[in-house]
Amino acid sequence: MVLKDQELQQIDATFLRHLKDKDPEALANLSIKLANDLKEARERLNQTPSNSSRPSGSFALWEKNGTADDTDSSDNDEDLPGTRSNSITDKDSCSDPESEGGSPDESASCGDETKPPPKKRKPGRQPGSQGFGRIQQLTVTKTDHHRPVCCTACNNDLTSHAGIAYTGFYTVDVLFGETQTPGLELTYTHHLYYCTPCPLCDLDNRAYPQRAEDVPKWEQVGLTEWRLVGPALASMIVYLAFDMRLTRRKIQRFLDDLLGLKLCVGTLQNVIVESARALEPVEEQLVNDLLDESLIHADETSHGEAGVLLWLWVFIGRSTALFYIGYRSLEIMDNLLDSHPCGYQGYLMSDGYQVYRHFRKRLRCWAHLIRKAHALCESYSPESRQHGQHVLNVLHELMKGIHAARDGPDDGRVDISSQHDAQLAQLKVICENMQRSRHKKTQALGTEFLNDWEAIFRILEHPAWPLTNNEAERALRHWVILRRITQGTRSEQGSRALALIASVMETCRLRKASPLHYIKEVIYERRQGRDVPQLPSVESNMIECVGV
Ligand SMILES: [Zn+2]
Repeated sequence: MVLKDQELQQIDATFLRHLKDKDPEALANLSIKLANDLKEARERLNQTPSNSSRPSGSFALWEKNGTADDTDSSDNDEDLPGTRSNSITDKDSCSDPESEGGSPDESASCGDETKPPPKKRKPGRQPGSQGFGRIQQLTVTKTDHHRPVCCTACNNDLTSHAGIAYTGFYTVDVLFGETQTPGLELTYTHHLYYCTPCPLCDLDNRAYPQRAEDVPKWEQVGLTEWRLVGPALASMIVYLAFDMRLTRRKIQRFLDDLLGLKLCVGTLQNVIVESARALEPVEEQLVNDLLDESLIHADETSHGEAGVLLWLWVFIGRSTALFYIGYRSLEIMDNLLDSHPCGYQGYLMSDGYQVYRHFRKRLRCWAHLIRKAHALCESYSPESRQHGQHVLNVLHELMKGIHAARDGPDDGRVDISSQHDAQLAQLKVICENMQRSRHKKTQALGTEFLNDWEAIFRILEHPAWPLTNNEAERALRHWVILRRITQGTRSEQGSRALALIASVMETCRLRKASPLHYIKEVIYERRQGRDVPQLPSVESNMIECVGV
């Protein structure tokens, strides 16, 4: 839309006749703008969920095929027990920065330390309860003047006209320290927006703060310049909450104690959700980059969302990591791997969880198998102890072969499976014997080996690859600690925010870049209504993924 409401209100029959007499060409140009705006408005009016451009990222992976439980409760104001719901439905501070600092205790949906609210009571300020205005007065460090550049109706240059300030807001932000200038500096900018009457056609032109278009599921969190918390400070809050694992209350204390800045928990929570919304389009880049990798490690761990047991999934390659929170189902993996136009061509490293089994090009983590064999060695049954020891002996022989191949002239890039035919045949006999054992764990391990044979020994075809799924387990560890601190998330939006932020932070770390600076850039660009900047590039000199 080119024309703003305030401008349309001024354009009536008198204005158009006046413009026609003064400058017919300008009238023609204005007509084109009006026609374009009308077409765009009509198209929006005709949008339905099936034809609108809802970004792919706004669908959770288990929703894409429409086969999973439809638990989207965006139209449902009630928090039903046992369902996922957007519990941050009653907060929006995008229209007025004063209210940002004011909403007293909008509860955290992803990681506040307070207890979950009683059923049917939405988190945050209750309707009708008293709000609190922002009370801290800061000294303005800078004033930014925003003026219209040219007339919307006749394109007349307005840069030399002063105009009158008609609205404004304040933004508090930080300047990060750098190598040459260490330290953290707080800025408080007064943004003034001007109205300039066009001397040619008399239209009152106004400069407006930028605002990104609303998208489904994030309607409650506007992405706009009109914010109390600037992009760098917002990024710092995200960093403190997710990288440093501070609760909202601790971040509040940190900002107050170290920077003398008083922000309420509700503001911090809004900043985090807004940042996650800003980061959402990055997911497409992440998916593309991940599916270009030749080996992806996958793992999952339990995650509570408003009392519902879900799973935090990680898919991690050499330079990209993706996190999702959802059900422990096949759809998450299928939807991710099928996002590639030709289907994912690389290999998947996982544990023995059966969801992974249907993926053909798979590798099994040996650490789990070795642990199970060790357990057999400690069994009371002499037969099981013997089986366990046999399995361990063969695995150690094979590991020696793999390490020798890695140290060899080909750096482990050559298939060595044929060199170990005898050992594999020997192990197969052991496993078949184990399957006949009456000892349950012995029987189970024998069956596990035989069922997953190809995946377990595929490593012999690619000895340079890792033997364990440590990459994925290590990537989850940080977020497991965060889950313990925060007791999980409170809403679907909170879970989505956590997964997006985790994906971006972990990927930046893998690429040896600072998530703090990248997230700042993303928030800045998206508040201006622009696309997300490219992720930090994969350094060509990054160390090859060599296994344990
Ligand atoms: Zn004009």
